[in-house]
Amino acid sequence: MAVETRYVEVLLPLKLKDALTYRLPEGWSASIGDWVQVPLRGHLALGVVLRVSDRAPAGVSLSAIAEVAARVEKPPVSGEELAFWHAVADYYLCTPGEVFKAAYNAGLQRAMLQPEAPARRKKRASKKQEELAPGASSAVADEMRADAPAFEMKPLSEAQGAALERIRGGFAAGKPVLLAGVTGSGKTEIYLHLAAEQLRQGRDVLYLVPEIAVSKQLQQRIADVFGDRLLVFHSQTTVPQRYRVIDTLRRDPTPRIVLGTRSAVFLPLRNPGLIVIDEEHDRSYKQDDMAPRYNGRDAALMLAARRGASVLLGSATPSCEALYNVQTRKFVRVALPERFHGGEDPKVELIDTTRERRLGNMQGSFSRKLLKEMAAVLEAGQQVLVFRSRRAYAPVVQCEACGEPVRCPHCNVTLSYHKFNNTLSCHYCGYHRSFTMRCPSCGEVALAERGAGTEKLEEELQDAFPGRTVARFDADTTERKTVQEKLIRDFAAGRIDILVGTQMISKGFDFAKLALVVVVSADSLFAVPDFRSDERAFQLITQLMGRSGRRGAQGRIVIQTAQPDHPVLQRLLRAGQPGASSAGMLEERRQFAYPPYVRMISVTVKDRYEGRVWNVCRLVKEAADAVGIADIAGPITPAVDVVAGEHIAQFWVKLPRSRGLAAVKRAFADRLEQIERDFKGQTGIIVDVDPL
Ligand code: ADP
Ligand code: ZN
Repeated sequence: MAVETRYVEVLLPLKLKDALTYRLPEGWSASIGDWVQVPLRGHLALGVVLRVSDRAPAGVSLSAIAEVAARVEKPPVSGEELAFWHAVADYYLCTPGEVFKAAYNAGLQRAMLQPEAPARRKKRASKKQEELAPGASSAVADEMRADAPAFEMKPLSEAQGAALERIRGGFAAGKPVLLAGVTGSGKTEIYLHLAAEQLRQGRDVLYLVPEIAVSKQLQQRIADVFGDRLLVFHSQTTVPQRYRVIDTLRRDPTPRIVLGTRSAVFLPLRNPGLIVIDEEHDRSYKQDDMAPRYNGRDAALMLAARRGASVLLGSATPSCEALYNVQTRKFVRVALPERFHGGEDPKVELIDTTRERRLGNMQGSFSRKLLKEMAAVLEAGQQVLVFRSRRAYAPVVQCEACGEPVRCPHCNVTLSYHKFNNTLSCHYCGYHRSFTMRCPSCGEVALAERGAGTEKLEEELQDAFPGRTVARFDADTTERKTVQEKLIRDFAAGRIDILVGTQMISKGFDFAKLALVVVVSADSLFAVPDFRSDERAFQLITQLMGRSGRRGAQGRIVIQTAQPDHPVLQRLLRAGQPGASSAGMLEERRQFAYPPYVRMISVTVKDRYEGRVWNVCRLVKEAADAVGIADIAGPITPAVDVVAGEHIAQFWVKLPRSRGLAAVKRAFADRLEQIERDFKGQTGIIVDVDPL
C-alpha cells in the first residue's frame, strides 16, 4: 500500500534551528527538494522540502500545523545540495537555513517566485521526460562529449607543461594541488587548459576568484576560450543574471565553466570535475559580516571532497593554511617560479623614514629621494602606483587648544576628515557630519588634521608633480562600479600617471606601463594587533609588487618604513621564490599555538549595555567549561570596543585539529544560542569558526 505523504518538513532561509512542519493540501504530493511557499508569521515564505512523512510529528497538535500555501514550479534542489548545506552549517556552527540564505539571498528568493516565461515552460516539459527515462541525462553527457568543441587555446610553455603534469599527478593521488607561482607566471593559462579537459569529459568547472578580482580582463579571457560555456556569478552581476545562471545549471545538462566569487560554491553544479580557487590566500573569500561565516575556499574544498572533484588552489603568496597542508601532505605543491614573459625578480628597496626625517630629507609624506625617482619614472613615460592603507584626507582631527581628538559619538574611534566633501566620518558605523574648525570638546576654533590618508597623498603628489595626472582609487572614489572600471581603464591606457590607492589596487590588475610601486608606510600594516598581520603585510606587499614589471620588464617597489629591520621586510628583500621563506612564519604559529596548528573559534558578545556584556561573558565562559573546552582566552576588549553604540567583548577558543570535535563545537554553539534566547535577543553572540 502506498504511503500517502501528508506532512512536509520545510527548510526556510532563516536562522531557525529546525525545519518547520506543514500539512499538504488534499491530493497534493511532494518530494524532497521541492520548492514551496508556506505561511510564516503572517507572510508567505519560500522554502524547500527537507522531509516528507505520512504522520504528524509527535507532540504537536494537528490544528497548530499550517498548510503549504503553494507549490513553486521550479526544478528541485538536489539531495547533494541539501547535504552540502547541512555540512557547511555543521562546520561553521550556523543553521542550514542560514546556508540556504547564502545560496539564495532575498533577491534570488523573489526571482524564484516569478512565473516562468512560456519558452522556459516548454523546456521544463522536455526535462520532465528526460527524468522519466533513467540514464537519459548520461546519454546527454555522452552526446556532449561526442561533439565537445576543441576550445582554441594557447600552447603551454615547457615550464607550464611540466607543472600541468605534476598537477595531474596530484589529482590522480586524490589530493588538492597548490600552484604556487608569481603573478604573471602563467597560472591562469594552466587553469584554462585543465578546465577545457574537464568540459571535454562532460564535467563542470567552478572557477572561484576573490570579491574584487573579477576583472573584465579575466572574464573576457575565459570567454574567448569557452564562449557560451562560461557562466558568470558574483555580487556585481544583477539578480536576473544570477538567477539565469542557477536556472541554466538546473535545466541544461551542457557542461559549464562557472566564474564566480565565494557564494558560487552553492551553485547547483551537476557534475563538478574541477574547482579552481585563484588567489586562495585572499581574505575576501571569508564572509564575516553575517552567518554563515564561511570561507569560500574551505567550503569549496568540502564540496570537492563530497562530489569527487579535483581542486587547484593558486597563489603567488600562499596562505599559512595552504602551506601547512603541503607540509602535512594533505596538498601537493607545484611551483611555477618564472614569469611567463621572463624578466628578473622585482627589485625591493627600503627607505628608513626615521633617518630621512632626522636628516631633513622628507617632503610631506615622501622622502625627497623617492620623489626624484618617481620623477625619473614619469619622465620615461612610465607610471607609478602609490599604496596607503588608510583612505580619507586625515585619519585623525585634533584640537590644538585642548589636545582632544574628535571621536565618533557612537563608536570608540576617531573620525576621519574627508576634504573632498568637507566631512568628518566614522569608518566603522558610517556616521558623518560636516567639518568645522570648532572643537566639540572645548569650543575653541582650533581643529587641525593629523596624519595623511590617500586623499592627502593625492594632493601632495599633485603639488609635487604639476602637469601630471594623479588619481585616487579607494572606497570614496569607487563607490560606483562604473567609476571604478573607468579608473582602471584610464590607468591601464596611460591616461593617469600616478594612481594612489588602498588595498583595492593590489588585486589582479595588469598595467603594462607601471614601473614603480610605492608603499608610503609599511608601519601601518605592522601595527595591526592580530597574529595574522605579518602574513597579511607580506602578502599585500608581494601582490603590489606583482602589479609592476609585467611583460618582461623588471618591477620595482620602494617601501618607506620606520622599521627597516622588521622580519617581513627582511623576508621581502630575500624573496625570490614564493613560499620559500615561509618556514619562519609557520614555526611562529606552531610555537604560539595559532592556526593552522589549532582550530580557532571567535565568540563576540555585543550589547548596548556594557554591564550586560560582562554578564553574558561570564555565561559564555561557563558554557565553554560545561562542554569541556579548556583553551578559551577572554573576555578581551578589542581595539575598537564600541561600534554603533554597542559594547563589544571577545573570546578566542582554540581546539586541537581533530575530526572528533564536531560534537563539542555543536554543544558549545547550542549553549550560546540558548544564552542568546534567554536574553531575548538583546545581546548578540556571534560565533565565527576559523575567523580571519
Ligand atoms: P598568472 O595567472 O600567473 O598571473 P597568466 O596566465 O595571466 O599568469 O600569464 C601571464 C601573461 O603571460 C599573460 O599575458 C598571458 O596571456 C601570457 N601567457 C601565459 N601563458 C601563455 C602561453 N602558454 N602562451 C602565450 N602567452 C601566455
Ligand atoms: Zn561610528
